[in-house]
Amino acid sequence: MMPYRPAVRMVPGPLWQRNLRKGRFIPTSRWDKIKAGVFDQHGLTCQTCGKVETEQKRLNVHEEWEYLTDRRPAIARLTGLKISCWHCHMIEHFGVLENMVRSGELTQQAIDNTVEHFCRVNKVGRDEFNEHLARAKTEWAHLNQLKWEVDWGEYAAVVEETALKRKQRGRRCEEDRGEEDEDQALYHWPYLHSGEPW
Ligand SMILES: [Zn+2]
Repeated sequence: MMPYRPAVRMVPGPLWQRNLRKGRFIPTSRWDKIKAGVFDQHGLTCQTCGKVETEQKRLNVHEEWEYLTDRRPAIARLTGLKISCWHCHMIEHFGVLENMVRSGELTQQAIDNTVEHFCRVNKVGRDEFNEHLARAKTEWAHLNQLKWEVDWGEYAAVVEETALKRKQRGRRCEEDRGEEDEDQALYHWPYLHSGEPW
């Protein structure tokens, strides 16, 4: 069976916060430049479903990871960055979406529309989605149990350079602050609260 695109691939718990975008591993200014480069290259188009947006804020630069679990510790490798529309991104991070609905920030409609998007893009029915989701959750529960090392892929050099500079400065960078924020803060995009219909 062909892998689904988009697919539910929730980030294992031990790897939360380990990403490029929050200023913890590279400066936020550097991340902004990387992001701008991705948009320059691909425009305002979701690289998963092809949806074209008119505003950059409606798209996310999604980090794609592969999880190598045939070794200990397991390795999470950053394989690339991809422009993702809101629905494709929420499919990838389906657990975040469910939490936002649970907390009342979004309604059930957001889940329904996201599942509909999955079915439309992958040309499958709701049963296939449910089966895929159940599998993804089982896999995620397994990945949550592992110890992990991060391989930053093509960004390894900049991560290393940042760590070195920060060490030399002997203090934590401005950007480090707030790293404890729940990762979900990322999804609090302004237009979510604009009353715009799904
Ligand atoms: Zn998309």
